[in-house]
Amino acid sequence: MKRARNFNAGPAALPLEVLQRAQNEWLNIEDSGMSVMELSHRSAEFEKIHNHAIQTLKELMEIPENYEVLLLQGGASLQFSMIPMNILKDGKRADYVLTGSWSEKALKEAKKVGETAVVASSKDDTYTYIPKVTDIEMNEDAAYLHITSNNTIYGTQWNEFPATGNVPLVADMSSDILSRKIDVSKFGIIYAGAQKNLGPSGITVVIIRKDLITDNDKIPSMLNYSIHSKNNSLYNTPPTLAIYLLSLVLDWAKEQGGVEKIAEINAEKAKAIYDIIDNSNGFYKGHALYESRSHMNVTFTLPTEEAEKQFLKEVKEAGFVGLNGHRSIGGCRASIYNAVPLSHCQELAAFMKKFQDAYMAKETQTH
Ligand code: PMP
Repeated sequence: MKRARNFNAGPAALPLEVLQRAQNEWLNIEDSGMSVMELSHRSAEFEKIHNHAIQTLKELMEIPENYEVLLLQGGASLQFSMIPMNILKDGKRADYVLTGSWSEKALKEAKKVGETAVVASSKDDTYTYIPKVTDIEMNEDAAYLHITSNNTIYGTQWNEFPATGNVPLVADMSSDILSRKIDVSKFGIIYAGAQKNLGPSGITVVIIRKDLITDNDKIPSMLNYSIHSKNNSLYNTPPTLAIYLLSLVLDWAKEQGGVEKIAEINAEKAKAIYDIIDNSNGFYKGHALYESRSHMNVTFTLPTEEAEKQFLKEVKEAGFVGLNGHRSIGGCRASIYNAVPLSHCQELAAFMKKFQDAYMAKETQTH
């Protein structure tokens, strides 16, 4: 079987080594005579896997002692609600930086819970850039400041994070967690759906500073950080298979040499594609402004709708999967998360060059 060259935005490519290991252990995990899905979530075997996932993430991201890692359900989308429900206290205001559709959605949910404000936005420029940290109207009294570290749909990424002083910085890192080194101590909460860089869908990682976890009986148990924290994220039945796969992906990330090494490869992968865009004489046009370009989602358009349709048709025929832009903005998008090999990015870059040459030769002939 030939592996697809998978550029899906999420769920996305998983490391082949992880899938092979899961295959090997499929019928018998930890010598239990059972598959991981058949283990009790209260069993010693599962608890070991669960704690291993949490511990490995702590190591990889160098998460300080005063933080907890929670493994929750409901996707990053549920965090849009859980964050304000748990940490937007009465009389306080939650500040949001809008850098794309996901930050808009996060704001929409927070508005249902309490007072909010938009303190910077690139919406007027169709989210082509990340606002400068100095352009954020910081409010020292805010309950938190929310950002989206990588904008999956528009293909922009924060390079420098705002220094928020006593205000907790909350970041949706769904599409770039573990793709580069991050100083976790700068954040109050980091959250991410697993289905891009961490594993399959069905699990959401929440890294939260312990002082932000406070008891509040009014919050339904399943939406309550404190309840999940007290129960080591085993308050109810967790998605055991997803947690197992998460633990394998984290082991794989360690084997790659950790986050710094992964970041180096990610930069090389992104460069392979951006170089083609930059050297195409405007044939390919990147959506994101240069300094805000994402290393995870490369978004671009072609000169005409017809050329774009042709490109998307031919790229698919050539065996590349998932190059269509998000349905809300169209265009093209190559999602190149950690598990997408450099060779696939180089092959895509070569295809883009070849397509441009052939397209332009045809154009010259017909005009
Ligand atoms: N935030 C970002 C940045 C995303 O890319 C996505 C999903 N593509 C979400 C949030 C929503 O995640 P989920 O589907 O896990 O709720």
